[in-house]
Amino acid sequence: MSKETRGEILLDAIYDEVDQRLNPNQEECWYCGGEGYTYDCIDGCCIDAESGCEDCAEPCIECRIYKRDRARAIREEVIKSDDVDIARAWLKSVGRWRDNITNEQIRTQLAAERGKLLTAATPAPDSEEGT
Ligand SMILES: [Zn+2]
Ligand SMILES: [Zn+2]
Repeated sequence: MSKETRGEILLDAIYDEVDQRLNPNQEECWYCGGEGYTYDCIDGCCIDAESGCEDCAEPCIECRIYKRDRARAIREEVIKSDDVDIARAWLKSVGRWRDNITNEQIRTQLAAERGKLLTAATPAPDSEEGT
């Protein structure tokens, strides 16, 4: 198995684990029902206030919060894994990969981020947002 494939497989496992943790029953978003949009229609003003019209569509805030939490949890798992292959696959997946990044740089970065995670054990004030 190539290092690339190994990193991708292990990263997939992290996605699964994070999804399991954040959404154990794989439920659709309670707020928008998995549609990704909510509608702020006004009865009497909108043609189709019941089902929502395009003009009033907003990206679902709960979906955004979930995506943000998921991205954050994935990032943490990647850092905790302390695995260069996983980190490389992850950097590619978030569009932060550059061909001149060396394994050594990844390792240094992982160690630095792990240190930050440990010191940031106390939750930030804004971590209550959305609950
Ligand atoms: Zn409307
Ligand atoms: Zn939603």
